[in-house]
Amino acid sequence: MPVTTLDIARGAHLIGGEWISTGATTASINPARPDQPVGEHVVGDASTASDAVSAAVDAQRAWRAAGYKKRAEILERAAVLFEERADELAMIGTLEEGKMLAEMHGEAMLSAETCRYQAAVIKMPTERIYPTAKPGETIRTLRAPLGVVGVVTPWNFPILIPVWKIAPALAAGNTVVWKTASNTPLVSVAIAKVFHDAGVPAGALNLILGPGSMGGAMVADPRVDGVTFTGSVPVGFGIRDQVTARNGRVQLELGGHNPAIVFDDADLDVTVPLVVAGAMGSTGQKCTATRRVIAVGSVYDELVERMSSAVSALKIGDGLDPNVGIGPIVAPGARAEVAEGLEKALAQGAEVVAAASAPDTSECFFAPTLLTGTTDLDIWTEEIFGPISTVVRAADEDEAFALANNTEFGLSASVFTTDQWRVDRAVNTLEAGIIKINAPTTGSELHVPFGGEKQSSGHAPREQGDTAHDFFTRTRSVYINPGTPNPYA
Ligand code: NAP
Ligand code: MG
Repeated sequence: MPVTTLDIARGAHLIGGEWISTGATTASINPARPDQPVGEHVVGDASTASDAVSAAVDAQRAWRAAGYKKRAEILERAAVLFEERADELAMIGTLEEGKMLAEMHGEAMLSAETCRYQAAVIKMPTERIYPTAKPGETIRTLRAPLGVVGVVTPWNFPILIPVWKIAPALAAGNTVVWKTASNTPLVSVAIAKVFHDAGVPAGALNLILGPGSMGGAMVADPRVDGVTFTGSVPVGFGIRDQVTARNGRVQLELGGHNPAIVFDDADLDVTVPLVVAGAMGSTGQKCTATRRVIAVGSVYDELVERMSSAVSALKIGDGLDPNVGIGPIVAPGARAEVAEGLEKALAQGAEVVAAASAPDTSECFFAPTLLTGTTDLDIWTEEIFGPISTVVRAADEDEAFALANNTEFGLSASVFTTDQWRVDRAVNTLEAGIIKINAPTTGSELHVPFGGEKQSSGHAPREQGDTAHDFFTRTRSVYINPGTPNPYA
């Protein structure tokens, strides 16, 4: 399928308002049809990153001075363009990343919502006025943008994650250098084009395409005042160390190892589809995916049986096929890592209780797999970024909560029960930034703060919601005096 409508079949950097397509190129691969490249794109390096930071520095003063109203208008126009181009964005995203077209379309529509919401946030009062000891003086706070913000994003939500970082960063008056994931360059170009066409001025948003080392060069640039990152723990911690060493600000969204606890008072007709969706949806390539299922007491046998039927019935294939439910894994290397994780679990004694059947037309297809096992398996503590979930048995509520918390991660957790007192205990006991009751570990609303605990997130204000504005601004306390004698003294 040609992606010519948006003219991005040859992906370029956006630097200082210019589309730069000179230099080495590589192909963007469709994981469902590796023999049909989606398009070509340029590949940058450290000097590309430096050029983009220079452009962001140059554009900073004017973008800040444009004021909230102008910035909000531009974001509102971007929202309209995300809606108008949702079909094309979804098509490019699915071709590059593999997930279901309808899900990718949802990302584009939620991006529109994010732009509108963040445009509205900057119209809310954020300043405070304090009493003063001096007649004639005003003491007030002022929210200043950080300055130049580095945005580093993964491929698994290739439209929405970038937008939920870029929209509030721009809204607050920052200029942005965005290093996107190597697996999803062309949809990133289409997103940058939305902001560009909406009127984001030259240099206020810069997109650079290239490897992780180019991202490393960007975050190491001392002219970058803050970095917001979503991705793996080792890369995130490396960025944190580098940015905090120069006292820059850093926001991290990292891995997860999210539990779903099912009690025997849960309604399994409601529960089973939600647990399976949380575990296998988007091919398990969500940071909030359900990796661990904790079946409490007598519910174990029936839960395993019913989840097994649901997993076996999943349809795997090309995300463009409306009859398919689960797409491929994003790339051959990522698929190999998932397969390796499964082999290790089996070698350690995990048992496969259900597996869907995957087509062999691409090496990226992988059968969603349900395991049963014990908590001494590595898979019980290590994140495998694919459609594998392990069920274990807990004797009672205390053991279930202890097992759920026994992880270095703390992103999301689900509890399936109809006992409201148990709900109360769960929300006060589970160590997770997002707690869902009778709902999957995945999914969130954009006006609600999003993030985890322990190794799943950093300590900066949360992404999304109005807390996003807190990360992208700094508070100054301003004392304003008349500068003339007090006429009433
Ligand atoms: P990743 O390898 O950490 O990559 C994330 C981004 O960082 C990519 O753009 C990558 O570029 C870039 N990068 C790699 N090395 C870098 C370096 N040294 N300096 C600066 N940037 C660098 O993560 P991934 O494999 O794409 O994504 C999967 C992980 O993300 C999982 O662990 C998942 O749990 C996590 N995740 C977390 C959340 C959350 O909100 N908590 C959401 C989604 C995903 P390249 O693509 O060019 O390597
Ligand atoms: Mg990676």
